[in-house]
Amino acid sequence: MSDSPVRRFSPAFRWDGVDALEYKTEGSAPFRDVSRQVLFQDEELACQLRYFEVQAQGYSTLERHQHVHAVMVMRGKGRCLVGDRVHDLKTHDLLTIPAMTWHQFRTEGPEPLGFLCMVNAQRDRPQLPTEQELQALRLDPTVAAFIAF
Ligand code: MN
Repeated sequence: MSDSPVRRFSPAFRWDGVDALEYKTEGSAPFRDVSRQVLFQDEELACQLRYFEVQAQGYSTLERHQHVHAVMVMRGKGRCLVGDRVHDLKTHDLLTIPAMTWHQFRTEGPEPLGFLCMVNAQRDRPQLPTEQELQALRLDPTVAAFIAF
């Protein structure tokens, strides 16, 4: 392990010394083709910075939680449900996901959707929607067409 403060970026959106991890344990929650890299994680920091990549046709888990996400898109295009609205996202857009707000990302087009996501180091576990909550979300046809569960 190098002690250099610099970890170099490579064109495949990988960084020196950073492992590409499973997004979540397979079967623990619904998602498709998402990878996770933890870029910054330090006892001296109260936050973590992760890089997620969602492949074409992929989607993240539909979830909510008390902790907030601060997101910056790094590559590709996508759409994101935040609460009861679906937003278009493109490279370098910033997105805030407030506390206890349903959210889900989807890739648009052939390129992966890659984004940085800052979170509290100490955070609550994501909640998945109940069948009743899914029914409420599906009352909006745009949301119904967007969400996967
Ligand atoms: Mn989340």
